[in-house]
Amino acid sequence: MLTPEERAWRDKRLTQIAAYETAEKRRDFIDDEKIWDILRRKSNPTRQEVEEVLSKARELRGLTPEETAALLNVGDADLWEAIFETALWIKREVYGNRIVLFAPLYISSKCVNNCVYCGFRHSNEAVTEKTLAMDELEREIKILTSKGHKRLIVVYGEHPVSDVDFMCRTIEKIYATKNGRGEIRRVNVNAAPLTVEEYRRLKEIGIGTYQVFQETYHHETYRKMHPANTLKSSYLWRLLALHRAQEAGIDDVAIGVLFGLYDWRFEVLGLLYHAMDLEREFGIGPHTISFPRLEPAVNTPFTTQSPYLVADEDLKKIIAVLRCAVPYTGMILTCRERPELRRELIPLGVSQVDAGSRIAVGGYAEMERERIPEREQFQLGDTRSLDEFIYELCQNGYIPSFCTAGYRAGRTGCHFMSFAKKGLVKNFCVPNAVLTFKEYLLDYATPVTRELGEQTIDRYLAELGRHMPQRAETLQAMLARMEAGERDLYI
Ligand code: SAM
Ligand code: SF4
Repeated sequence: MLTPEERAWRDKRLTQIAAYETAEKRRDFIDDEKIWDILRRKSNPTRQEVEEVLSKARELRGLTPEETAALLNVGDADLWEAIFETALWIKREVYGNRIVLFAPLYISSKCVNNCVYCGFRHSNEAVTEKTLAMDELEREIKILTSKGHKRLIVVYGEHPVSDVDFMCRTIEKIYATKNGRGEIRRVNVNAAPLTVEEYRRLKEIGIGTYQVFQETYHHETYRKMHPANTLKSSYLWRLLALHRAQEAGIDDVAIGVLFGLYDWRFEVLGLLYHAMDLEREFGIGPHTISFPRLEPAVNTPFTTQSPYLVADEDLKKIIAVLRCAVPYTGMILTCRERPELRRELIPLGVSQVDAGSRIAVGGYAEMERERIPEREQFQLGDTRSLDEFIYELCQNGYIPSFCTAGYRAGRTGCHFMSFAKKGLVKNFCVPNAVLTFKEYLLDYATPVTRELGEQTIDRYLAELGRHMPQRAETLQAMLARMEAGERDLYI
């Protein structure tokens, strides 16, 4: 039962949302019938058709819904191998071999909504609600920065205690908290949809990306998952959340689906239509796409009983097809997935991952507890430390990155897209990745990771020297300045 205060807050927002739905000129660009029609028409693509789609994918122009549907419906194992190879090629071509690292920070689990799949839903009495006090927030930040993190995504339930004022206060606190050389340089946000005015306030305090997952693009499933009269029940308010964020000047917006609620092929096309509509209106698509899978949560039977749970093999397909369809959008893989699967999924097109994560509110202060079910939204699959994860990335030939230079140098939104489209990410972002990785190795790494990390940097410098000797020299000089004590250098 909501308290009178919670009810009043919810009702006021429900009225606001209803008024928005009536006045909004933008249309609902997801047509369920049309998506099913495309999937049916492309249900049996010929080998030649698939090969042609893959050649187009290699031109890095993105794919149409029809072409994407043809890939989604491939049956032959050898053609899937060709799709995986194309995805890997695109990832290397656009992003190089760097992997950006971040950590999630759950700030408040209080929520007035009742999403069927979520451990934080209001009616779930098996999860204890918690909102971090400012001193607890500071402690979490100090722990995260002491491990070497520079980039966070902060997460809030939808509740009067975590309204936009609270979001602003907590994000300002995060930026202001210094820990020796440690600091958070980019705060991304995953929270409920806001009004344009509210987004403007977040833009002013300097957030990075604003992320809202549609959860499912299928209208009827959306209705079933989000009970009537809750704030999340409005499909349109959520679908257009990131259009409003863009309108408010937040250029980096991030979309996602909670895979396992409905048919995964349908959802991939939903993501594509969402990306296309953002690009149509703002000239720029989403900064990232996420593809979380439904994970078990305490007292939430739907999470293990949904008829649409996605198999590991299908998750590989989802990632590879998305990589081919939207080559310039970052792709985020989270610690929801188990270590051995993360190893397999990263090469298929992932550019950002979290590591060393805890998702209970206040979970970093109890780092040694890998799981705190009574305070978590769902269960994590990968609870390894940041250092352990970084060691593995280096073993597999990646360059770990904590880079926030693009955003601080104004290379966001449109700029980032034109940048990415010119293939320059590799030439700016990888050197910047190396600089932030060096910072990690100098200040936070264990001796074994440091040794392997230095070898990784040396190998990269040698390769860069062969193709761009001047850039290699500049980078080497900057690395030497870091050895001498300077920090936060970027190109
Ligand atoms: N409350 C806000 C909202 O719903 O948009 C933002 C935070 S919510 C805590 C973040 C995301 O967690 C949701 O968008 C949903 O996709 C995901 N999530 C919820 N329940 C989950 C579950 N059981 N397994 C995996 N992810 C889940
Ligand atoms: Fe609340 Fe978000 Fe969980 Fe829904 S998914 S119950 S809105 S925290």
